[in-house]
Amino acid sequence: MWGPNDITETAGEGWFWCPTCRDQTRCRHQVVMRWFFAADRAIFPIKTLGEYIECSDCENTFDPEVISDPGHAGQANFQKAARHLMAKMVLADGDVQQQEQRAMQTIHLMVTGAMLPPEEVAEELVMAKADNRSISQYCQDVLGQVNGPGKAQLIRAALMVALADGEYHDDERALLHEIATALQVDDEALDTITGDLMMFTDRTEEVLVEAPTLLAPAEIPEGGG
Ligand SMILES: [Zn+2]
Repeated sequence: MWGPNDITETAGEGWFWCPTCRDQTRCRHQVVMRWFFAADRAIFPIKTLGEYIECSDCENTFDPEVISDPGHAGQANFQKAARHLMAKMVLADGDVQQQEQRAMQTIHLMVTGAMLPPEEVAEELVMAKADNRSISQYCQDVLGQVNGPGKAQLIRAALMVALADGEYHDDERALLHEIATALQVDDEALDTITGDLMMFTDRTEEVLVEAPTLLAPAEIPEGGG
């Protein structure tokens, strides 16, 4: 290997109050660094991409502030990425349909455990449309804030939004591939992540009905929203 490659290192371990498990659990403080490699050896660090706290039980990732402020919604970065990528998918086929907006709300709740009001969906769509960054530019920030299971959830969320409008368009297929590449998920891993969802491509209307079983349900915070 020659060139940049990202490495996730554990900066510390301990216990924290996991908002998803709603319990004290073991956790790891993960730091994602981009290194320059030559002849398969990490030569020098280029930059820190980001950091997060990972629960050892549920594997969800949280912003580092969750340690000092566990009552606060600790998945702000993950939720932001989920919203943005879903909005980009809604916009991929040109027109925005109401069922796609409803799909965003349903899937956001399943993936993040947080409600997404209709006005925030509309706001996100406007912002995503105005955001001229490529998916790969946008995902540079996301790479430092999610782990493997988080990336899989983001990809599945985007795919489910694509399926929810009744058809799986070529534009949507291309965008899903772009998202996977930007998240450093290769084709083989992408097939594994999306495999069971692909059976819905010819009966897309069912994907939302089955959403609760297709996405590992995050626990809904009490009194949240
Ligand atoms: Zn947990």
